[in-house]
Amino acid sequence: MAFSPAVAKPLEKLGIRSTFDLVLHLPMRYEDETRLTPIREAQPGESVLVEAEVVESEVKYRGRRTLVAKLTDGKSELWIRFLNFYPSQVKQLEPGKRVRVFGEIRPGFFGDEMVHPRVKVVGKDTPLPKSLTPVYPTTAGLSQHQLRELILGALDKLALEDTLDNALLAKLRLGEFRESVLFLHRPPPGVDRTSLDERTHPAWERLKFDEILAQQLAMRIAYRERRAKSAPKLPDKHTLTNALVKSLPFALTKAQKKSYATIARDLAEAHPMRRLLQGDVGSGKTLVAALAALQAIENGAQVALMAPTEILAEQHFLKLSHWLVPLGVRIAWVAGSLKARAKKQALAGIAAGETQLAIGTHALFQGDVAFARLGLAIVDEQQRFGVEQRLALAAKGGEPHQLMMSATPIPRTLSMSYFADLDVSVIDELPPGRTPVQTKLVSEKRRDEVIKRIRTACAEGAQAYWVCPLIEESETLQLKTALETFETIKETFPDLAVGLVHGRLKAEEKAQVMADFKAKKIQLLVATTVIEVGVDVPNATLMVIEHAERMGLAQLHQLRGRVGRGAKKSHAILLYHQPLSEMARARLKVIYENNDGFEIARADLQLRGPGEFLGARQSGAPLLRFADLERDAHLIESARNVADDLLAGKSRAAARHLDRWLGTRQFYLKA
Ligand code: ADP
Ligand code: MG
Repeated sequence: MAFSPAVAKPLEKLGIRSTFDLVLHLPMRYEDETRLTPIREAQPGESVLVEAEVVESEVKYRGRRTLVAKLTDGKSELWIRFLNFYPSQVKQLEPGKRVRVFGEIRPGFFGDEMVHPRVKVVGKDTPLPKSLTPVYPTTAGLSQHQLRELILGALDKLALEDTLDNALLAKLRLGEFRESVLFLHRPPPGVDRTSLDERTHPAWERLKFDEILAQQLAMRIAYRERRAKSAPKLPDKHTLTNALVKSLPFALTKAQKKSYATIARDLAEAHPMRRLLQGDVGSGKTLVAALAALQAIENGAQVALMAPTEILAEQHFLKLSHWLVPLGVRIAWVAGSLKARAKKQALAGIAAGETQLAIGTHALFQGDVAFARLGLAIVDEQQRFGVEQRLALAAKGGEPHQLMMSATPIPRTLSMSYFADLDVSVIDELPPGRTPVQTKLVSEKRRDEVIKRIRTACAEGAQAYWVCPLIEESETLQLKTALETFETIKETFPDLAVGLVHGRLKAEEKAQVMADFKAKKIQLLVATTVIEVGVDVPNATLMVIEHAERMGLAQLHQLRGRVGRGAKKSHAILLYHQPLSEMARARLKVIYENNDGFEIARADLQLRGPGEFLGARQSGAPLLRFADLERDAHLIESARNVADDLLAGKSRAAARHLDRWLGTRQFYLKA
């Protein structure tokens, strides 16, 4: 059905494009107009419906035009007042008229008063509404009244058939769709209001289940579609992969072995792998990625490894060169900062198929890079890449296998919903010999003690990071702050070798600083958050983070993960400035109390919602409007099973359900 042009635009703004979308536009709260309250019984803070007769009414000029009327319900009086009003409202309030006014009664200048109430002229026996009055989210250009009429019209017009059959509903202990929807739009008086407001009422459960089911169906269909595509088979030949394992000075952890075994199986299949490898900071994802790369290379395929920042890409380049060059693997480096000649040379090697492994930033997937036979693309810190970069990657060379890595662990509920089109592996243990980092929260006023600690640590041969305050608003300001911090720190520690690394340094300069730090030529490294990912210097056992209250949880956890990489006990000191916002206080408490990335991620999801985790996913996955990932976890689990059953079955239920919930909303997955 097409809406009239006047309402089509505001409806579109609310995401409503079809009559059915109106049905799914659910109230955010309710008002009770099902019973009358005598004026003198109204409680403060409560909106009530009062029926009364107009005694007098008048338009007054008190600075601005004001419509004032006095009403009586026979026992007490009530003043009502409007600052903005239409002539029709003056008419409604002519003396002698009987009206129902809805609003909150407060003590006013002349006595009890109601400001800007909703007014309705009634007769002696006008019946009261039989259900609570829904209040819908709306937008400019569409009044609550108009929207209500549209929605009620849709409820009457549509059949509201169920997409799920009775047997299934009984098994899931869910109510019928029609019944649930009607209930939520017009709840009877006397219903438990809390269960409506908190969305725990069975009618809400049904709607939330349906919403989650639609999401599951969409994601599972995307999953199946990918499984129908073909990709080169790259089975494990155990030559290069075994050689790498043999050359390492340590053994793989059980979790590394298990994740790699799964990836090895994926790569051997004739369908493109889309696997997300999750593992806490320092869990050893790079090595698993290296094994996957070798398996592809053994089969004559090329591999691309992309990281979100140059400093991280470079760490990978150094590490992988160290591991793989001795095995005869030809590796190329591609980044935005490459000189024209070097870049040309790198691209020629990639295009000719001579380069077996290309490592770099998103520069790897710009238009001028052409792979001869790309078989596997590895994306580190996948959540930091935007949609365009993911699309560019997908556009390179057919359907390569993809391995995505993330050190921001994704809580289970999230990976079961927004990531349900991917396969997920988790590295759930750290290599042995790590000592958990001890975290301290220190007020900025006690800076002196922190300075003493650094002196002691460095005197004992340890190294330390000093992380500059984060200035998100401006890169220029961030650079200025970093330079100033560096100067101050140098003055504070004249006896120490102090270095500086920040995002604006040239690649070679950055590499030099990191190499000096690794070689212990630098004792104290002042750094911006560029060191957040990937940097690996086991002898650094102390980290000071300035203005920790400004940073997000994932960022703090990642930063902290730069220490605690060796056998010696490490410390992270989080300096904070008072006063702390409630959110900042909550974050610092979480990071102080937890070392486990998954716990931190769960807390983060609770504090901030799913946005931060989704990255490029956000635009592809159908978002949840009603369900809450944490609270409705039980629904996600059962919806997933139902989705798989429906897709396996022959009925059209899945298609009908998807059509209903996603219908005219454009939807496609971009991964
Ligand atoms: P992340 O998962 O954060 O990317 P890395 O891959 O950078 O972690 O690994 C962190 C450090 O642990 C690296 O120095 C790496 O060489 C080392 N490492 C990886 N696997 C093992 C292992 N099984 N035993 C000991 N050290 C390991
Ligand atoms: Mg890493």
